[in-house]
Amino acid sequence: MNGQRIETVTVVGGGDAGLIAALTLEEVADVDVTVVDDFDEGIPEVGKSTISYIQNTFHNVLGIEKARFISAVKPVWKASVFFTDWCGNGPFHVPFDDLTLPPAEPGRRRFEELYHRYETGNYRTLGVEIAERGVSPFVELRENGFFRSYDHVAYQFSTTRLNEFLRELCRERGIDLVDDEVTEVLTDGGWITRVAGADRAYDADLYLDATGFERLLMRNLDNEFEAFDFPLDSALVAKADLPLSEVVPATVVDSGEFGWFWQIDTWDWRDLGYVYSSEHASREAALAEFVRTREAEIDEAEVVEYRFDSGHYRDAWRGNCLAVGNALGFVEPLQSTALTLNAILTEQLAELIADHHGINHRGLRELYNDYARSKWANVYDFISIHYRYAGGEGAFWDAMRSVNDEERLAKYVDPYRENGFSSHAELDNRHGSNPRIFNQYIFYRLLRSLGVESPFYEGLDFEASPEVVDAVERETERIRSDADRHLSYERVYGSDVFE
Ligand SMILES: Cc1cc2nc3c(=O)[nH]c(=O)nc-3n(C[C@H](O)[C@H](O)[C@H](O)COP(=O)(O)OP(=O)(O)OC[C@H]3O[C@@H](n4cnc5c(N)ncnc54)[C@H](O)[C@@H]3O)c2cc1C
Repeated sequence: MNGQRIETVTVVGGGDAGLIAALTLEEVADVDVTVVDDFDEGIPEVGKSTISYIQNTFHNVLGIEKARFISAVKPVWKASVFFTDWCGNGPFHVPFDDLTLPPAEPGRRRFEELYHRYETGNYRTLGVEIAERGVSPFVELRENGFFRSYDHVAYQFSTTRLNEFLRELCRERGIDLVDDEVTEVLTDGGWITRVAGADRAYDADLYLDATGFERLLMRNLDNEFEAFDFPLDSALVAKADLPLSEVVPATVVDSGEFGWFWQIDTWDWRDLGYVYSSEHASREAALAEFVRTREAEIDEAEVVEYRFDSGHYRDAWRGNCLAVGNALGFVEPLQSTALTLNAILTEQLAELIADHHGINHRGLRELYNDYARSKWANVYDFISIHYRYAGGEGAFWDAMRSVNDEERLAKYVDPYRENGFSSHAELDNRHGSNPRIFNQYIFYRLLRSLGVESPFYEGLDFEASPEVVDAVERETERIRSDADRHLSYERVYGSDVFE
């Protein structure tokens, strides 16, 4: 079967990951795609928050017109992850536009600017202003009635809305959606030989396992599951009413005794969650803390619990089967990486299949598997920094301070300690053909926000020149007055702007 051409693909599982993969393969790799799902079952209402690359997936790779997307999915535009309190550190933001800090002059002035920002903690970006003011990324250009939008933002949405919209697109684009539950998976020598549901079998050159944590296909193949060492495995989720006037366009995070809390605002409601470790807290203890510490009133009877495991299959692709989304792996919900990581992986997959003329051979599988492993490693490293350098008392936080491996994290921490913020460009360029999801500078900024000092900067007897200080101040002022012009959510959704 090695060397067979991929002309038909069956995706088992029509959650968001399965549908995005189906659309991407159809669009980029030019294959015939069928999605099988017991569509009557509701899909999990988690996976609401994304990172900014998702805009590229939806609007460039899949070619979805923005106005249509907005009108159907009704997103909130997420400008940052806003840590209001992280074990005593905070408030601080991880916005999507941190890298665009001007002045973009190389050399001395840039060094001075970064040093000055390190010293003063002034990291105001337009994303930070948008998040804190609760405004949209849109500015009305009065002279011609058009709107300008700021693109360094991601989406937050109801997954039910997104899923319905993705199904509609699949139908439009000739992707067959079959309502069935797959009940039989047979394999032989590491290849899938039969996938069947109640009514029929689904023959295909390539199968995608998109069955979420069920991992229905991949668990039948001899593939090692590499667990991450996070004890986090549970989440309590509740909803609260949310008028548009109170939308916070950011994923708001704070720490708890056994984990951390999220607040994700969508057009439909305010989503509240507590991600915790069942090894360190019973459901009752976590629920009590959740209800006690949230500002909104939470009805305990309405709280939904989710379970997950942290890790990924060593090989994303085995023989004629490939896993996507939660079926492939999951780190944990902090920084909302899952759906966007899946989109990045499937885009790369579709391009590789197209580049290899659809021939399924060992070299292609290895290429893709290496790529997927490097992405998982990058996300896992980034998330673990949040815990390695967290304060926090009690058994849970003690355990979290020893996640990952000091030697492995040294590649991010040592350059920051020895060079401050100034080494990111060179380091990222070395990985030019395989860019990371989170680049070096974001690691450094996070370390700084968590209170980790750079001995290099601390040891410098140095002050930024008045010209640079002045330039930073003027830029901050410009950002503030730009933010003054951004439209409110009521204006965006309460009028005919996107109808
Ligand atoms: C607590 C929590 C919070 C999260 N927060 C985020 C976040 O903020 N951002 C983010 O990007 N991600 C988040 N995630 C991950 C999120 O779940 C995924 O990114 C996203 O929803 C895609 O999931 P999926 O499509 O892989 O799986 P699912 O949504 O679970 O879809 C699997 C589909 O497979 C179908 N299926 C299963 N078995 C069969 C069968 N035998 N036959 C036919 N169909 C079958 C199911 O019906 C379902 O439709 C979170 C996860 C958890 C647990």
